[in-house]
Amino acid sequence: MKKLLLSLAAGALIISCQNKEKEAESTEQTAPAVENVESTEAPAEETVSNTVTIEGNDQMKFNLSEIKVKAGEPVTLTLKHVGTQAKDVMGHNWILLKNGTDIATFATDAMKFKDNGYIPENADQMIAHTETIGGGEETTITFDAPEVGTYDFICSFPGHYGSMQGKFIVVE
Ligand code: ZN
Repeated sequence: MKKLLLSLAAGALIISCQNKEKEAESTEQTAPAVENVESTEAPAEETVSNTVTIEGNDQMKFNLSEIKVKAGEPVTLTLKHVGTQAKDVMGHNWILLKNGTDIATFATDAMKFKDNGYIPENADQMIAHTETIGGGEETTITFDAPEVGTYDFICSFPGHYGSMQGKFIVVE
C-alpha cells in the first residue's frame, strides 16, 4: 500500500513536470507572431471635376494637395474653413498662382496687404483667388480654367504657405 502511494506521487510529479514543459513550449510558439504589415490602403482616386471643394483647418492644412480640372471650362471652387479660429488668427484663402511665380516672394509681399486679407489685389501673378475667411465660414468663386498645365495654389495668410499649398492641374 505504501509503495502504491509513492508510485502514485511519483507519477503525479512526472505529469506535473511534463505539463510545465508543455506550457513552456506553447509560450515559445505563440511569442513571435508575425503580423501582416502589408498596407490595405487604396490608392487615392484621381478625379477630374470643375466643381471643387477644398477645406482649410485650424492646423494650417488644406485637405487637398492636388486639384484636377478640365481645360476650357469654368471652375467653381468653394473654400471651407472647417476650424473655429477667427480670421485674424487663423485666416485662410485660396490663391491660384500663375506659372513662374515664386511662392515665397509672393507670400512675403502678400503680408503687406493685411487690410485686404493678405491678398495683393493688383498682383498680376494671380489667376484667381478667394477672399480670406475665418473658422466656420465658406466662400465660393468661379473662374475660367487656365490652359493645360500644373499650377501652384497657396493660402497667403502670414506663415501659412509652407503647409498650405498644392498643385492645381489642368488637363485636356
Ligand atoms: Zn491659411
